[in-house]
Amino acid sequence: DTQSKYGPLIGSIDEGTSSTRFLVFASKTAEVLTYHQKEVPHIIPQEGWFEQDPMVILNAVIETIDVTCDNLKKLNINYEDIVALGITNQRETTVLWDPTTGKPLYNALVWMDMRTSSTVDMILQNGKRSQNFLQNVCGLPVSTYFSALKIRWMMDNVEGVREAMSQGRCYFGNIDTWLIWNLTGGVNGGLHITDVTNASRTMLMHIDTLKWDKNLCKVFEIPMDILPEIRSSSEIYGYVANVTKLSGVPISGILGDQQAALVGQMCFNIGQAKSTYGTGCFILYNTGNSTVRSSHGLLTTVGYQLGPHDKPVYALEGSVAIAGISIRWLRDNLKLLKDPAESTEIALSADEPGEVYFVPAFSGLYAPYWRKDARSVMCGLTEETKPGHVVKAALEAVCFQVRDVLEAMALDCGIALTKLLVDGGMTANDYLMQLQADYCGIPVVRPTMTETTALGAALAAGIAEGVEVWKLHNIEPVPSDTFVPSIDEDVRDIKYSRWKMAIKRSLGWAVD
Ligand code: ADP
Repeated sequence: DTQSKYGPLIGSIDEGTSSTRFLVFASKTAEVLTYHQKEVPHIIPQEGWFEQDPMVILNAVIETIDVTCDNLKKLNINYEDIVALGITNQRETTVLWDPTTGKPLYNALVWMDMRTSSTVDMILQNGKRSQNFLQNVCGLPVSTYFSALKIRWMMDNVEGVREAMSQGRCYFGNIDTWLIWNLTGGVNGGLHITDVTNASRTMLMHIDTLKWDKNLCKVFEIPMDILPEIRSSSEIYGYVANVTKLSGVPISGILGDQQAALVGQMCFNIGQAKSTYGTGCFILYNTGNSTVRSSHGLLTTVGYQLGPHDKPVYALEGSVAIAGISIRWLRDNLKLLKDPAESTEIALSADEPGEVYFVPAFSGLYAPYWRKDARSVMCGLTEETKPGHVVKAALEAVCFQVRDVLEAMALDCGIALTKLLVDGGMTANDYLMQLQADYCGIPVVRPTMTETTALGAALAAGIAEGVEVWKLHNIEPVPSDTFVPSIDEDVRDIKYSRWKMAIKRSLGWAVD
């Protein structure tokens, strides 16, 4: 029978910026038995704005769960064997809703949305305060990226939000919170909770105490009663209500998507790091039980806290806003390719030389620059430039941005990484992985099972007290492929110095 073959099953909701997925893992082998995926539409009302409809996200999640349950049935596996659920989600993305009606007060402001630029200026008192004036408390620079800015923008610009707040009719949540509230009953007593990793991205949590911080809330004038309760990343929070086929199943793991990848890649030791290539690209470096405040543009974030009585493990993070989405942009806006998978073939069609450098600063530049005024530039175009050069430049931009982050990490931590563990949708591209190894000068290691984000959330759910189908130290790391650097160091250095020249132009572009 399937129970003895697979062991108890763990479900993982992976709600990303591009799509949402539901995957089912067999606890015996940690392999994916089946999954269902659905794209979630982006709403772009004007330049720099980026929204999603919270109801569409919720319905997509419920649909992927129910279709996956049907898939299991077709495989002659009982979905009743699913004993726990984990959730991993796009972080920072902000939803405000009315808990008496269950209706969102506005669309979700997605993490990469830039409309909060003027809110940043207001909080920084037009440059009187340093961008890092809250770093000591929350580990983050003031940026358009984080939830507090998005909440404040909605308070100032969306009719009815302040009124709802003053009448106790407003809940705030990131996507984990929004989903769990709905999945555990919504207006009929849904749980209003989040985990430490998601909370560490709001700019409202004290990074050392792991509690909402009064002073931070005061800076943004955000009422504390709209905030969810902060819990660990692994414990039974509650049970699924009668909204999907999985009603009654405990929800026992929550991790922000990048932290879930850190767990899924089993980076449990100080000094281990992973890089996840999706819409953006995010490199997290495990710093153990102590926080490191970056002097080089990295974020201090909670990596995971695998149980209410466990110590938190922290990470330094380099966030790159634009990675895979620039390939989508080449497809949708410039029509240079039909499918991201064609990027290799088109890039290889570009004859050398003809070096183009492309800095995709659609959301300004994140780590290590944190410049919302940066703009995209393409340098080195000639009359010989072909689509291949541009596509190659977009792939190279991902690699150079990762190198920017690795250099900052080496400066903050005092030691350089000796290898880079990678995952995410873009890592299907072997050519990109080879470029990454070439331009960073260290081996790039890609697991054969690339669903590490979903695995991380499943692990958090499966080790929780009361579920315990897994014990962390028993889980074998998955096998992997390695890409070894194959270019000369001087070629690597020349290319990187040209990239830096392009960055300089991107930073200065809109300034007289
Ligand atoms: P997210 O988790 O942010 O939703 P994914 O991990 O699913 O994203 O990765 C999807 C992104 O990867 C898309 O932006 C797409 O353009 C890019 N991508 C997918 N396959 C390839 C490929 N073979 N080469 C280059 N980019 C790719």
